[in-house]
Amino acid sequence: MLLGPPSGKKVLWQELLRHELLAALEQRPVVIVPVGSVEQHGPHCPQDVDISIPYHLALRTADAIDDFPVIVAPPQLLGFTHYNMGEVGTITLRLETFIDVLCDIARSIWANGFHRIVLLNGHGGNEAPTWAASVKLAEEDVWALALTYWNMAPDELRAWSEADEGGIGHGGEWETSLQLHLREGLVDMSLAVKDEWRVPFSEDVQRYAWFPERRREMEHGVMGDPFTASAEKGKRLCAVLVERLTALCREYHETEPLRYREFGSHCP
Ligand SMILES: [Zn+2]
Repeated sequence: MLLGPPSGKKVLWQELLRHELLAALEQRPVVIVPVGSVEQHGPHCPQDVDISIPYHLALRTADAIDDFPVIVAPPQLLGFTHYNMGEVGTITLRLETFIDVLCDIARSIWANGFHRIVLLNGHGGNEAPTWAASVKLAEEDVWALALTYWNMAPDELRAWSEADEGGIGHGGEWETSLQLHLREGLVDMSLAVKDEWRVPFSEDVQRYAWFPERRREMEHGVMGDPFTASAEKGKRLCAVLVERLTALCREYHETEPLRYREFGSHCP
């Protein structure tokens, strides 16, 4: 039902046959769970920007690695995004529901024997909750690495930004660029607008103090400048992100799964 990579390689968890999953288990597989959100993204972008990006990054990484299995789990489309309500299109989960869903997904994958799990997040509002899910799971000795995609390339984002100063924004320079690269037909640049960011503190204080969001205060629901976006910039950033995710999967594959060590077990 969901689209796999253009090569036709089987990488989607839900499409694999039982014996293929069992064979993968023998090869120290990595499972990537794309985690996103369905929410307003300004007038020019579709609602599913924040799940489409981690989903495509996971697909491309799984497609690029042939010497061990990288499996893409069913994407978690819905996230924690109450602050985007108020513009049509947003569907949000409550914080506790979102964390519970992520934990149940990771527990299930772990119970199937897959012990190298990446929760690859694409939505700002999910960042802290996805980390919280990872922390909660660790308490149960279930290990899922929580990762938000733009944190894989902060230097490039800063260096290549023409307007948004390295921030991923919301329907701004970088999300729009990635959409133009990944799914150009779903973007309508004739409707693009640039909103001003409204923040309560000076630039100096913002560096260490900020509030969580409530309602998006921007007039059009955009953070950043989509007029500086281009498919070429999206392609450039996407290539770096896939490279970083690939490097992570390779090291994860080599690493023994984390396990809780009983207190005193290392004592003679
Ligand atoms: Zn977004």
